[in-house]
Amino acid sequence: MKGHFFLPRYQLLTSVLFLLLAVCFQTVSEESLLNPSSLPAEIRTSFETITSKKIALTFDDGPYPELSEKLLKILAEEKIKATFFIVGEMGSRSPHLLQLFNSQGHEVAGHTYTHPNLTKVSLTRIKEELEKTRVLIREFTGKDTYLFRPPGGNYNENLKNICSALGYQPIFWTIFPQDHLDISVEEIYQRVVKNVHPDGIVILHSGRENTLNALPKIIQALKKENYHFVTISELNTKGVNLARKNFSY
Ligand SMILES: [Zn+2]
Repeated sequence: MKGHFFLPRYQLLTSVLFLLLAVCFQTVSEESLLNPSSLPAEIRTSFETITSKKIALTFDDGPYPELSEKLLKILAEEKIKATFFIVGEMGSRSPHLLQLFNSQGHEVAGHTYTHPNLTKVSLTRIKEELEKTRVLIREFTGKDTYLFRPPGGNYNENLKNICSALGYQPIFWTIFPQDHLDISVEEIYQRVVKNVHPDGIVILHSGRENTLNALPKIIQALKKENYHFVTISELNTKGVNLARKNFSY
């Protein structure tokens, strides 16, 4: 009788154990496959590199004492990195902001010293605009950058030759919502999300309330589409074509 009693109970226990193991195994593997946050950091980074699409948010002009700090707060809350193309003379008035951009992991690059149209000034002036801004950035971030964005996107053959002679790399954009004009928060949001594409460069502007108000919604929408936010250098190292594109709305 004892044997009869023991056998079914043993079988039952074994079956339950098998069932538990199967459920656990399935849960773990499903979690690992569907939820990258459950993976170890190194594997998660590789997972994100393979599966996500890159996008670079860039902010021209400024820095502006109050609005740039608000902008940094949004980026910190969303845990993303961006690139700031700063105007040298504005940066020289708020150097602590350059330090803040850098210490929070953002990239700082030049947008000239006084924001002139570089196709309409002398060779000496072009050099001065680029070099003064680069030296300022180096002084307050410790990083020497040759990336710059020409004001207004104004660029010609002459400027191109000067840039290559001095080693500067102009950075344009591929998504241009024109937030520097008087357009609504909703319009800025729509123009970015409708035109977004992998390895894109979004041009936005520092110092504009509507841009700040549109930003959290833009970032969240792009995150939902599996976009991963990178700086220009991170995008650049992958050999992305940074050629200028034209837009009209
Ligand atoms: Zn500008």
